[in-house]
Amino acid sequence: ATVIEAKDVRVYYGQKEALHGISMDIPEKQITALIGPSGCGKSTFLRTLNRMNDQIPNIKITGTIKFEGKEIYSPKMDVVNLRQNVGMVFQQPNPFAFSVYENVSFGLRLAGIKDKALIDDRVETALKQAAIWDVVKDRLNDNALGFSGGQQQRICIARVLATKPDVILMDEPTSALDPISSAQIEETMVELAKDYTIVTVTHNMQQASRISDKTALFVAGKIVEYDDTRKIFINP
Ligand code: ADP
Ligand code: ADP
Repeated sequence: ATVIEAKDVRVYYGQKEALHGISMDIPEKQITALIGPSGCGKSTFLRTLNRMNDQIPNIKITGTIKFEGKEIYSPKMDVVNLRQNVGMVFQQPNPFAFSVYENVSFGLRLAGIKDKALIDDRVETALKQAAIWDVVKDRLNDNALGFSGGQQQRICIARVLATKPDVILMDEPTSALDPISSAQIEETMVELAKDYTIVTVTHNMQQASRISDKTALFVAGKIVEYDDTRKIFINP
């Protein structure tokens, strides 16, 4: 099934048209990789999928994006709720300078959830899914910034998972990490794709061919190829 349906999406920064009509159906419980040269609009497209870039001065976004059939740019859309369902992980691990527990429970408190037992349960489950529970279980009150880069990225993944999203958007989630952490996060992404829809930006072609099911090749604000990854990366 299609989870996100984008039709003729155009993004302008002032006079400059950064996306020239992107249409794309993003399939459920698969990894879709967005690849292409720097500046071709991958990040811009990713951010439009959960309205992460609405607040940029002079940005204009046209076209339609439906998440589970609902128009996300409709005035009726609850943006906080949208971001609970369509979470984002960034290139640079960006945990808040609070405890691990406060980081992972952040979205739940934002959603007004007050049931401590429920929050505890969600925090533990999310940290397990992000494959970091064993490291942090006795350090839940430690500042998240005291962990390594790879561990911080997992805490950020858990922060997204805690709100039970359907879709996880990832903007070069491994490119600020060392090769070992990067490979381990790739494994976690593949594991997560059994239950979640993942859309990931990567400049790493090998990574796209290793872990993604679908690949979209962006060039200068357009998608020039979009197909099953195994058809995109054909051995000559
Ligand atoms: P990519 O992720 O493929 O590197 P981006 O989506 O970051 O590409 O950028 C696409 C184009 O839009 C680039 O020319 C970039 O300079 C421009 N751009 C991105 N963000 C902004 C912004 N906030 N304001 C103005 N231009 C931007
Ligand atoms: P990356 O290539 O890793 O996406 P960039 O250096 O292109 O990172 O962009 C970093 C940040 O700066 C992004 O939030 C992007 O939206 C913003 N940005 C990129 N290009 C421009 C621009 N021409 N004017 C203003 N902001 C920009």
